[in-house]
Amino acid sequence: MDYDIIVVGGGPAGMTAAIYAGRGGWNTLLIDPMGGGGQPSTTDTIYNYPGFPEGIGGTEIMDLMARQAKAFGVKIAFDEVARIDKEQEGGFRVTTGEGGHTAKAVVYAAGTHPRKLGVPGEEKYLAKGISFCATCDGALFRDKVVAVVGGGDSALTEAVFLTKYAKEVLLIHRRDEYRAGMANVKLVRENPKIKELLSTVVESVRGEEFLTGITVRDLRSGEVRDLEVQGLFLYVGWTPNVEPVKHLVDTDDHGYVLAAEDMSTKTPGLFVAGDVRRKPLRQITTAVGDGATAAWSAENYLLLRGAK
Ligand code: NAP
Repeated sequence: MDYDIIVVGGGPAGMTAAIYAGRGGWNTLLIDPMGGGGQPSTTDTIYNYPGFPEGIGGTEIMDLMARQAKAFGVKIAFDEVARIDKEQEGGFRVTTGEGGHTAKAVVYAAGTHPRKLGVPGEEKYLAKGISFCATCDGALFRDKVVAVVGGGDSALTEAVFLTKYAKEVLLIHRRDEYRAGMANVKLVRENPKIKELLSTVVESVRGEEFLTGITVRDLRSGEVRDLEVQGLFLYVGWTPNVEPVKHLVDTDDHGYVLAAEDMSTKTPGLFVAGDVRRKPLRQITTAVGDGATAAWSAENYLLLRGAK
């Protein structure tokens, strides 16, 4: 086997698993298409991770985690995992875009990817006005009007973030109540640059080379309106990245992986951690806890098999 433990995914769950596995002296590889970062690196500032009373940059905290993993001897590969298979002799083959690796145990922490709206025009204007990352693209919309779709914490925090650049932010949510917590609702309501369009859905997206506008429907009155916006930020939830392990795990109706309290799956030696797992709260704090538990369980699994 090439490695004792392969960690798939470099968000907070994967990085924590790698830190624990590396510190435990296990020969560990972490695979991530971007070399790590995960969802926090698409967020400007994290305010609710303990230990940082002034908040900490999303990229900054993930860079620190990667440095810590490397300091414990973890190798990090910039690669994408296509499929994981259980080998005859009990280990795993992890097939990637660049080839593949083998390991005695795997921690799968591949997270989720953003959902789209599925409305006409959306595909054409992806990355041409439509974005899933305000931190990455917000500065492109200085003094422009942008819309944010969604009513969860992501939509509300990113709407507030976008007011740094945009002259107006339209916050479009399909219900008349937000899913987001009160702290974020308060920040939205205190911000004069944000205009809330509640009980409203986006019906289509239009433009020329780049996005120029959207058509929205007010679900209470039925009124349909064309709005001029240059940017459209979608925060309408997430889909778990489960494809590479689908044949090795059980999932719930939404595709999230079912795991025991120790992060084990129905395949011995395969553990999951973070947002890809069915769980009630998806935060950096809970991802970090999952990662530590998964690495600890992988270590116990290897020790029971006399791997050290
Ligand atoms: P989320 O909580 O799942 O919210 C998704 C939002 O998109 C919901 O408001 C949903 O509407 C809406 N939506 C879904 N499909 C839609 C569609 N087809 N058209 C229009 N709207 C649609 O996702 P999230 O906001 O990304 O948050 C994910 C997790 O991360 C949550 O646990 C959240 O608390 C956490 N998070 C926390 C913070 C923080 O500051 N603490 C920041 C970011 C994320 P409905 O409400 O009607 O279902």
